[in-house]
Amino acid sequence: MPDTASTEPMTPYRELLGELREIAVLGSISATLGWDQEVMMPPAAAGLRGEQAAALSTLVHERRTSPRLADLIARCEADTEVMTDPDAAANLRNIRHDYDRATRLPTELVRETAETTTLAMHAWRENRERSDFAGFAPWLTKLVDLNRRTAEALGVPEGGELYDALLDSYEPGMRAAELDRVFGELRAGLVPLIRELRENGTAPSTEWMNIPLDIAKQVAFNRGVVERMGFDFSAGRLDESTHPFCEGAGPGDTRLTTRYDAGQMLSALHGTMHETGHGLYEQGLPKAERFGQPLAEAASMGVHESQSRMWENFVGRGRPFWVWALPELQRQTGDAAIGALDVDTVFRGLNTVEPNLIRIESDEATYNLHIMLRYDLERAMLKGDLSVADLPGAWNERMRNDLGLEVPDDRRGVLQDIHWSMGAIGYFPTYTLGNLYAAQLWDALTAALPELDSQLSRGELGGLLGWLRANVHTHGRRYTAPELCERATGRPLSHEPLLRYLEGKLRPVYGL
Ligand code: ZN
Repeated sequence: MPDTASTEPMTPYRELLGELREIAVLGSISATLGWDQEVMMPPAAAGLRGEQAAALSTLVHERRTSPRLADLIARCEADTEVMTDPDAAANLRNIRHDYDRATRLPTELVRETAETTTLAMHAWRENRERSDFAGFAPWLTKLVDLNRRTAEALGVPEGGELYDALLDSYEPGMRAAELDRVFGELRAGLVPLIRELRENGTAPSTEWMNIPLDIAKQVAFNRGVVERMGFDFSAGRLDESTHPFCEGAGPGDTRLTTRYDAGQMLSALHGTMHETGHGLYEQGLPKAERFGQPLAEAASMGVHESQSRMWENFVGRGRPFWVWALPELQRQTGDAAIGALDVDTVFRGLNTVEPNLIRIESDEATYNLHIMLRYDLERAMLKGDLSVADLPGAWNERMRNDLGLEVPDDRRGVLQDIHWSMGAIGYFPTYTLGNLYAAQLWDALTAALPELDSQLSRGELGGLLGWLRANVHTHGRRYTAPELCERATGRPLSHEPLLRYLEGKLRPVYGL
């Protein structure tokens, strides 16, 4: 093994891994500072923190695009001993991919994009507040143009389109044509399902969610669930922040945050389970041995999201989990109102389907329609088929057709998300890809673990984590997300497992 034995002489490959580890260590300092900024930092330190972050990211960018790195990569690629080792070859394939992408963008374009997004995010915040799309439109026009130039500089993959070059930043190996196929089929099944639930079904009661519960009791319950999920607290933390997140800084250090509201008994739980899903993936990557190598990195944003959504939704909104969790919550809190709840009330309430104007407040089913809308519109803008001026009209029409909602103002419509103001076109699809991968993995793992439901109903979550460790986490970036999906589930990505899962769960919840 060229990358493990420390007594071997310094080969180009060992030198390359050493360089990548140093770059990853620098990146981990940024990550820890980012966590500190959200959780601990006094407000007056914002200026200094901005300078610290900028200094580090300049340093990291210089190291990632250095001629020395290019030379080491080329020498490794010319070395047959390296390239015939499967681990080293998998690393080199990804290292080459990342280096080429990092160096293809002209410095001038990178600088212009960074400057524009800083100003555009500011303009977006102000104009969202005023619900004034016209005020943000010139910025969006600039950002679409910058994205087009970025995609051209990165290069369109063979047989692909401009959008693919951007998508590749978040979901390597995925193509717009593939998204069209899978999203199109999912949408064709979801729209009528949601309509039928709403028109013919009996909506569950959700009033119980407003039972108040002391934050201290919520913290204790959340922490217990996180521990039971298998998160290693000797190598991680759970804290509070305004926007929950997970930061996997490096080996031995994975930080989660969540947010509590004393007015709702389960205010934090699903957000906590979501971030813990991300955290378990981070802790399951082989970072102890391979920090800095692609083999210790996540396969894609979509695969990362599949892990968070599986724990949040497939487990945390599933009936078996609540057979264990509700009596546990009742025992821990000793609360009379919580004590009066039964598993079916909680299970049904947690699976309410209610079209919502806001993406991040949407349920498991309607959420995907929000994503497909954004994907179709951003792709049309990039192609030049949809002008920025026509965007709000196209948005509102789609909300009417897909979700039956009238958009009252742009603040609750086209201006609601931060992504486009950050220049991130090509990111939205990873959310629904996460749901699709989660459903397909869930199909495979429930077949492999016939005892899963009874384990979940006893609060035993280790079998599930073990399967995810072996089939997803341990591989890092050895396979692209489409390859990983096919290896772990035996078939290419399909809309069918997610649609079947949603129908199978939601119809009975709505008495259909
Ligand atoms: Zn997430």
